[in-house]
Amino acid sequence: MTQTSPQIAIIGAGPAGLIAAERLADLGRVTVFDRMPSPGRKLLMAGRGGLNLTHSEALERLLTRYDPAPAPLVEAITAFPPEALIEWAQGLGQEVFTGTSGRVFPRAMKASPLLRAWLARLNERGVTFRLRESWQGWADDGALVFDGPQGRSTMPADATLLALGGASWPRLGSDAGWTQYLPPDALRPFMPANMGFSVSWSDVFRARYAGQPLKRIGLRLGDRQVTGEALITQTGIEGGAIYNLAATIRDAIAADGPAVVQIDLRPDLTVEALALRLAGRGSQSLSNALRTKAGLSLVAIGLVQEALHAGNATPLPELIKALPVRLEAPSGLARAISSAGGLRWEALDDHFMLCCHPGVFAAGEMLDWEAPTGGYLLQGCLSTGVAAAQGLRDWLSQR
Ligand SMILES: Cc1cc2nc3c(=O)[nH]c(=O)nc-3n(C[C@H](O)[C@H](O)[C@H](O)COP(=O)(O)OP(=O)(O)OC[C@H]3O[C@@H](n4cnc5c(N)ncnc54)[C@H](O)[C@@H]3O)c2cc1C
Repeated sequence: MTQTSPQIAIIGAGPAGLIAAERLADLGRVTVFDRMPSPGRKLLMAGRGGLNLTHSEALERLLTRYDPAPAPLVEAITAFPPEALIEWAQGLGQEVFTGTSGRVFPRAMKASPLLRAWLARLNERGVTFRLRESWQGWADDGALVFDGPQGRSTMPADATLLALGGASWPRLGSDAGWTQYLPPDALRPFMPANMGFSVSWSDVFRARYAGQPLKRIGLRLGDRQVTGEALITQTGIEGGAIYNLAATIRDAIAADGPAVVQIDLRPDLTVEALALRLAGRGSQSLSNALRTKAGLSLVAIGLVQEALHAGNATPLPELIKALPVRLEAPSGLARAISSAGGLRWEALDDHFMLCCHPGVFAAGEMLDWEAPTGGYLLQGCLSTGVAAAQGLRDWLSQR
């Protein structure tokens, strides 16, 4: 590195910004800025429930998980696919395993060992960090403006890579405040993605079952059906199966108001099989029969009773296979796992450079794409981080 090496600013020390820093470190003076006191806060949070790094399904299928999936995103994931991500994680000393669902995790499950090794690698390669520095747009002379512990400062950069994150969990740093520094027509409003929904549970049901999981259920809205788990909360319902259908449900609610989903409490049994089992109920109480004959958990029985109390007259076998639950509204961005919306693809060229700011590139969740949980989010962030870094490198080399 020399004083004539290009000055590269990467703003945002999440997965997208850190992998871009790694890819650009050899070019010279790379500085990573973040408004938080330490890097990778959302990544660490992602590791709390088991860090799902990527998915092992075929690339063609994996690409169908992204919406929208414009050419630059598809090319970025194709160029840095799950195998490359796994190799990269292994290079950081993280052995990985593939779960029965095809999801790929580090053996450690947590994000902290990976982040520690990653930061040590960046340090060795000469990347500098400036933390507690909040990016505030550009000064009149084009320099980057920051607000930090020493007050306002500016930094002229030869090239910049924005990796400012989406809008979920703002307390971890990504508060979408950056949107005010970009033209409004370059942005699509942020919406929650992979979030729960509110449900008007009865007081009795809420008091008994909030915090209880519904295991191995089917969930249907219209012609879309998924299987998985869900969790009853004080205010509604969340969890893997809900997240998988969340974008469809969110868009249905936005178009038509509250949406009624159907929960299949015994996806492994047919209506006929359930009818046969329940026919031999005899003098058993309803809840006893649902437990012993239909094999339902207490919370699933509670859901059936909730529907019956609301006047639902559907025969029991059919009700167990398609229990209606009215979802009132998506929960807010503050607790959503990710966000949809952000920087529009039309505002970028094919190399992730902002059309309105030559020499400024963007990557990660701040771009307008969404995907369900399953490792697709980190895969998308890391692949676009690699692609934007390559775009920046090529742009600098042409100058
Ligand atoms: C609870 C939870 C669990 C998750 N689990 C998984 C999982 O298992 N698998 C998976 O694939 N994904 C998971 N995700 C999603 C994943 O963590 C994110 O998609 C990913 O971290 C986004 O990476 P990013 O680099 O684009 O943005 P971020 O990680 O959000 O990083 C952006 C950075 O930019 C900084 N920043 C923002 N504005 C400014 C500014 N003005 N100035 C300076 N710095 C700024 C922020 O402080 C932040 O550090 C989970 C998310 C949550 C909340």
